[in-house]
Amino acid sequence: MENRFRIYNTLTRKVEQFIPNEEGKVAMYTCGPTVYHFAHIGNLRSYIMEDLLEKTLRYIGYDVKRVMNITDVGHLSSDADTGEDKMLKGAKREHKSVMEIAKFYTDAFFADCGDLNIKTPDVVEPATNCISAFIHMIEGLMEKGFAYESGGNIYFDTSKLKEYYVLSNHSEEELLVGVREDVDEDENKRNKTDFVLWFTKSKFEDQELKWDSPWGTGYPGWHIECSCISMKHLGEYMDIHCGGVDNIFPHHTNEIAQSEAYLGHKWCNYWFHVHHLNDKAGKMSKSKGEFLTVSLLKSKGYDPRVYRLYCLQSHYRKPLEFSFEALDNAGAAFEKLTKRIGSLSKDGGAVEPEKFDAWKARFQAVLCDDLNSSMALTVLYDMLKEDMSDATKYALAEDFDRVLSLDLTTAYAQRQAGNGVDAELEAYVLERIEERKAAKKARDFARADEIRAQLLEKGIVLEDTREGVKWKKA
Ligand code: AMP
Ligand code: ZN
Repeated sequence: MENRFRIYNTLTRKVEQFIPNEEGKVAMYTCGPTVYHFAHIGNLRSYIMEDLLEKTLRYIGYDVKRVMNITDVGHLSSDADTGEDKMLKGAKREHKSVMEIAKFYTDAFFADCGDLNIKTPDVVEPATNCISAFIHMIEGLMEKGFAYESGGNIYFDTSKLKEYYVLSNHSEEELLVGVREDVDEDENKRNKTDFVLWFTKSKFEDQELKWDSPWGTGYPGWHIECSCISMKHLGEYMDIHCGGVDNIFPHHTNEIAQSEAYLGHKWCNYWFHVHHLNDKAGKMSKSKGEFLTVSLLKSKGYDPRVYRLYCLQSHYRKPLEFSFEALDNAGAAFEKLTKRIGSLSKDGGAVEPEKFDAWKARFQAVLCDDLNSSMALTVLYDMLKEDMSDATKYALAEDFDRVLSLDLTTAYAQRQAGNGVDAELEAYVLERIEERKAAKKARDFARADEIRAQLLEKGIVLEDTREGVKWKKA
C-alpha cells in the first residue's frame, strides 16, 4: 500500500514513486510563516495542501514526523538578502517590539490553521530559539571552507559547489537581473550567488534582536534556520521538504547548498512545492498592503472550511486565481455536500465491508496519484450516489475526512444547532441588510436586488415587512 504513493519531485522534475529513507516512516519539513503580518489566503493555500500531503501519508500508513519553523528573524524584504528585516518592518509599523509582533502573528497563524482544520506539525520551532545551533553550523561551514568573512558578514561560497542550481533552471544572467532590481548590491560577496549566513556589519543598524557570535554581534540569515531546525529534529536525512513555489529559489536552493556542504552527503530526497494563489492583480503577497485573510473571509460570512474545499478542488501544481464568485460556488457546494452527508442515517443498515474497502481503495488511489485532490472529491460524490447502506456511506465519509478535513459528517449538524458559524452568518446577513437599505435609499434598486439574490444563494430569504426587513433560512 505505502509504496504506491507517487508525487511530483521538484528536484527531478518528475512524478516519482515515494520511497522514504526508513521503511514506514516519513521525515517531513515545512517552511513556516514569517510572522510580521497576518498570513494571507495564498500562504494558507500552501499550508492546506501541505496538510493534505501529511494527512495522505498518514492515511496510507506512514508514521510521519513533521517539523515547521517560525521565521521571527533574518528574512529580509528581498529573498536575496537585501532590504530591511521583515520582522523589524512589522514592529515599526505597529510600534511594538519584534517579539511582541512575533507572538501576535504566530498566534494569529495558528488560529487561522485551526479554522481551516490544518493540523499543527509535531514540532514547531521559532528561529530565535536556535541561534547557537546556527552559529555551530556556520562554524562547521567555515572549517570546511564553504564560508568566508567579508565586510563583517559571513557568506556561503557557492563557487565551492559542484552544482548550485539543483532545483531550478536559473541562469546567472537571471539572477543578475533579480539583483539589479534591488537598490543595493552587496559588494562583499565574492560571487553573485553567495548568500549571507550571519550578518554583523549590515546596513540595518537598528536591528532589534542581536546575538554574540565568533564574528561579532549580529543575527542569522534566513536560509540557515531551515537547514538547522530540520537537522535538529529530523537528523541528517530528510524525506520530503515543502513550501510554496517562491521558495524554490533562492531559499530552498540555498538550503540544499549549505546543508549538503555541511553534511557531505545528499540531504533531502523529495521537494514538494505548491503553486501560488493569485488575485486579479497577480501573486498575492503580504508586502502589497491590502490582502485577503481568513478573518476577512469570516467577516464576509464565509465558513473558512469553504476556502479549504475551494483549494482542494484544484491541483496543488496549478496556479489558482481567487475570486469571490468561485468562493461562493465552493460555499454552495459545501452546504449541499455536508447537508447530504449530515442527512445520512448513521445507523441506517450495516456497514458493507466489501463496498467500504472498494471505495476506500479508489479514494487512496487518486490521492496516491500526485495528490489528486479534485479527483478525491469526485470519488466522494460518486460514493454518495452509489446504491449502498447509509451506514456504509457515513463510515466512508468519516474515513475520507481524515484527509479532507472538511468536517463532512458534523458540519450540517453544527449549522442546524446554530453554533459560532451561524453567529457569523447572522452578523453577515445583518450587514448586507443594512447595505441593501442604503442602496434602496439611493434608489439603486439593481444593487438592492443583487444583494437579495446573493443572500438567497447562501440560503437566506429576505422579507420586507411593515416592521422592517426580516430574514430566515430557506
Ligand atoms: P512567508 O510567510 O512569506 O514566509 O510564506 C509562507 C508560505 O506561503 C511559504 O511556503 C510561501 O512559499 C507561501 N506563499 C507565499 N505566497 C503565496 C501565494 N500567493 N500562494 C501560495 N503560497 C504562497
Ligand atoms: Zn525554509
